[in-house]
Amino acid sequence: MSSDLMPPLNASFPGDDLFDWYDTHGRDLPWRHRWPALAPVYHLWLSEIMLQQTIVKTVIPYFLEFTGRWPTIEALAAAPVDEVLAAWAGLGYYARARNLHKTAQIIAAEHGGIFPADQKALLGLPGIGPYTASAIMVMGYGQPGVVVDGNIERVMSRFFAIKTPLPKAKRDIAAAYEQCRPTARPSDFPQALMDFANAVCTPKAPACGICPLANACRGYADDMAEQLPFKAPKQQKPTRSGVAFVAINQNGEAFLERRPDQGLLGGMVAFPSVGWTQTDWSDADVQAADSAAPFPADWRQLSAPVHHIFTHFALEMTIYYAETNRSSLGTNTGWWQVPEPSQLPSLMRKVWKQVETSKHLQARPKKP
Ligand code: SF4
Repeated sequence: MSSDLMPPLNASFPGDDLFDWYDTHGRDLPWRHRWPALAPVYHLWLSEIMLQQTIVKTVIPYFLEFTGRWPTIEALAAAPVDEVLAAWAGLGYYARARNLHKTAQIIAAEHGGIFPADQKALLGLPGIGPYTASAIMVMGYGQPGVVVDGNIERVMSRFFAIKTPLPKAKRDIAAAYEQCRPTARPSDFPQALMDFANAVCTPKAPACGICPLANACRGYADDMAEQLPFKAPKQQKPTRSGVAFVAINQNGEAFLERRPDQGLLGGMVAFPSVGWTQTDWSDADVQAADSAAPFPADWRQLSAPVHHIFTHFALEMTIYYAETNRSSLGTNTGWWQVPEPSQLPSLMRKVWKQVETSKHLQARPKKP
């Protein structure tokens, strides 16, 4: 490590004070056990996959639903993938759910239902990256290791006043973590830090005045706690456009299809759509959209599009709406069904909501 990247690790981290705080204020979470007890690795892994890009409050009901329906990893492995995807709906990033199911099948079939206690072997499983592998090793198996999520990054950056902007600072933060990681209570340490970051060392207005670590905190001493961690300027997300086609038949059912397994919203139930996964549709005209419709119908454009943010781009989805009958399917492989919002990914739920609220009011005929 070059000297200009070295964090100022001259402060001694008061781990005992952190544990005292955790013993009184730490959250009771359904997947959490406290040292010396360890969480069942199935529960820990499931929660970690769900928590990627999602907050604890949102994850709790999904975790309870999954563990209620599939109490063991073997049960999850045996579940039809469609059921797993439907139960996942609303958590987003559906590739995670597909990988979750694949990993469950591998663990059930090849590892006797037990996750390997080996970082390298864990990294070979679908959907498990370095962070999740470390989390399993430390919180599931009680091994020493570095577990640094965004919350812990914040505490480390502030406590050691690490001024290198993220993401470049990650290496310094990992070194800082490694330095202050206690040998006692290894599984509790990252969980205590996460709760502490969530309750005391918060992103805005950290409660330094009542913080049990304040006496040794370099960021607090330097009066720069709230500014840390520094972040490199964000790149503006590009915007893409697309068109979704919502057809309703005489029974009030909508035409739905399953998206290809690979790619965005892979394998999910969706309204037919074009032009947003890889290319921008913004230059295409109404006639072009009309010709891309799944079958001929009196397609009308709703005046308000739907906006949705993906990891790498923002989407503006125009909606075409048609009332039709069952016979006009053409060669499509979809089916008719009253849409069940809980089975749809968030983008398609928004599309359906928009149709329900505006189809009678705002649909306008396509241009001649
Ligand atoms: S003193 Fe403030 S900045 Fe430092 S660890 Fe405590 S809450 Fe965070």
